[in-house]
Amino acid sequence: MIESFFGFKQKINSFYALHILKELMNNDLEKIKLNLYDNAICFANEAVSCATRANENKQKWKFAIINIVQTIELSFKELLFREHFTLIYYDIINRDNTVSLSDSIKRIESILNIKFSDKEKLNISRAQKLRNKMIHNEFEFHPKQAQMHFINMFSLANFFFIKNFQCNLLDQLDSPLRDYIVETKEMINKLIEGAKTYFNENNISITERFVCPICSNSSFVTEEQKCYVCSHEEELIECQSCKELCFEGDLEDISRLFEYSNEGRQYKLENDFGYSDSVACLDCIPHIEEDIEKQRDDLAYYTEVNGLGKY
Ligand SMILES: [Zn+2]
Ligand SMILES: [Zn+2]
Repeated sequence: MIESFFGFKQKINSFYALHILKELMNNDLEKIKLNLYDNAICFANEAVSCATRANENKQKWKFAIINIVQTIELSFKELLFREHFTLIYYDIINRDNTVSLSDSIKRIESILNIKFSDKEKLNISRAQKLRNKMIHNEFEFHPKQAQMHFINMFSLANFFFIKNFQCNLLDQLDSPLRDYIVETKEMINKLIEGAKTYFNENNISITERFVCPICSNSSFVTEEQKCYVCSHEEELIECQSCKELCFEGDLEDISRLFEYSNEGRQYKLENDFGYSDSVACLDCIPHIEEDIEKQRDDLAYYTEVNGLGKY
């Protein structure tokens, strides 16, 4: 009698254990079911939540910016996914890794025929660079500028949502987070008005100003190399290729395209193909890649006809 009682109790216990295990598995499955679109909104809420806590803890800016760039990346993938699920993969056959932010832009433009403005592309490239720097390198930032940069990227994500998903990202935020964005934008608008007054009073025309890489306003005075909305200061350097003045941070290293020889661990530059500055602006890079490729082909051809074989 006692034995059968314990046997019965054991069965009950194992029945409950199985029931709890099933519940846990179901809960886990539910968690995984977050799609790209919901995931983007989730990251946006987390990003703004970090921004609201950054007054007390400056480190939160890092997570606010990383999360808002993630929102942008996921929303691009969602758009590609709606066209065809394989488009979110770098290699659509093997489907190991998903596409990068810059590859997403190329696919959205070429396959979906949705164009980004030059300003949008530049802002996305800057956001991607900043995110990578925050994850992989040392970096320094001014909290006020981090806030401006964050609002700038949130606006970019919001515009993308309205244009492509007919949904305002701002409405998808929890109420106190929405208030934070609205209030911060009002504060920035006051700074913009103040800068406009300064430019009028001092006769600083639009031709003497650049769009600021941090706050995205036409408030960066080229002569002073300073923004009058967010106080960002950055050196302007002439791109060797197009001779246009560019922000130092926008120039890309092109030394990966050069020819090197190596002895052991020592690498020696053999040919810079006429690009001794080893940096260029984003607009020039595709032309430079093309030119170096042509120079390489010509070099290989002449070496071959001179009987020296291919290099
Ligand atoms: Zn600025
Ligand atoms: Zn250039």
